[in-house]
Formats: sequence, C-alpha cells, structure tokens
Amino acid sequence: MTALFTPQPTMLAPTSDGSLFPVRRIFCVGRNYAAHAREMGRDPTREPPFFFTKWAETVVLDGATIPYPQETANFHHEAELVVAIHQPGRSIQVEDALDHVWGYATGLDMTRRDLQLAARDVGRPWDSGKNVEASSPLGLIHPVSEVGHVDQGNIHLTVNGTTRQQADIADLIWSVPEVIAHLSRLWRLEAGDLIYTGTPAGVGPVEQGDELHLEIAGLTPLIIRVGAPAL
Ligand code: MN
Repeated sequence: MTALFTPQPTMLAPTSDGSLFPVRRIFCVGRNYAAHAREMGRDPTREPPFFFTKWAETVVLDGATIPYPQETANFHHEAELVVAIHQPGRSIQVEDALDHVWGYATGLDMTRRDLQLAARDVGRPWDSGKNVEASSPLGLIHPVSEVGHVDQGNIHLTVNGTTRQQADIADLIWSVPEVIAHLSRLWRLEAGDLIYTGTPAGVGPVEQGDELHLEIAGLTPLIIRVGAPAL
C-alpha cells in the first residue's frame, strides 16, 4: 500500500550547535506578563496559567517573509521566549522541570487580534485568531549547555527600527519551570514540543512591508518581514 499523497514533513528547526530540532507541537501561554494582561483588559492577578496550541507547521524560520493572513485587519506581533522540550514527562514537578528543557529561542506568536478578541468576548475558541499559517516565527534554538537556563534578561522587539515591546524575562508571571509543571498536568510533554511563554506589553499591528527584529539577551535575534497577502 502506498500513501495517497506525500505526508507533510516534520518541521526541523536549526540549532546553534548545528543540529536540527524536530518540532512536534506548539503550546502557548496566555497572559503571562502583568502589563500585557492589563493592556488586554484583564486582571493580572496570579490565576492559574492557561494554554492554547498551534500546529507545528505554523513555524517559520529566521529571515522568512510571512504572508499577511486572510480575514484580518489587525495582525499583531507578540514577542516571546520559546522553550524547546526534549525529555518527555507527565505531571512534572517544578524542581525537576528544567531537566526537560533542551534549549531556548526567540519567537513570535503572530495573532489575528480582531478574530481572537471576537472569539474571546463570546467564549469561543481562539484557533482562528491564533493558529494561523506562518504565525509562529522561531529563531535559532540555543542549547542549555551553551546559554544556561534563560530566566532573566531583556526582551526587545522593534518594527522598522522603532521599539514596540521591551521587558525583562524575569517579569514572567509564571516562570518556565512553573509553566512546564502546569502544562504537563494537562498533557504529557513530548520531545519536540515548543512552549511559547507569553508576551509582554506593547503588542500591536503590523503591515505589509514591515520588518520585525526580536532580541532576547543571550540568544540569536530573529528577523522576519511581513509580505503580501496569502494567495
Ligand atoms: Mn502569545
């Protein structure tokens, strides 16, 4: 028996040590910086973290030009620290959580904000706002053996050279170990999972022709451009 069509190949994300990280799934943390929760009209008190997911095929790599997606007039940037998981685990304890991390990268959780908010406000799923083609730009993944665990440092996004988002990773409401502990109580984490850890304040729209430049201290910057609408 032969397959009816060629299966989609696994997304292979490059790493700074010259290897390739096969991407399995993408988990995203909602509202994980207090100032961003406030700008979205929400109370930043420390409620349990919540999560949404995106397909692995939404990953695009450094240098990409991403199409301006259909059915939106408010396509937003969200600058985020990304955690790359290599050790599977269920119900992981906070004190063991970092053992499951292979490395860290810069990332963008690009969002059709108009669709996300319309869904949010009537209690519908966020998929149409979040799980969008080419909406998960991902920078070079750096192993823990090279950069240690990223728990502080500047995160800075510019659009066409103008600062849009700037914060410190230490301002995460839920730290990386805490996120892993919560997430792994809901799903067994698997090798290849990526966790986009949430965005600081300053999210805003991009337009065709914009260049986005994201830096996180200690990691390789991520540069992407916004291109013509998807055909
Ligand atoms: Mn996000």
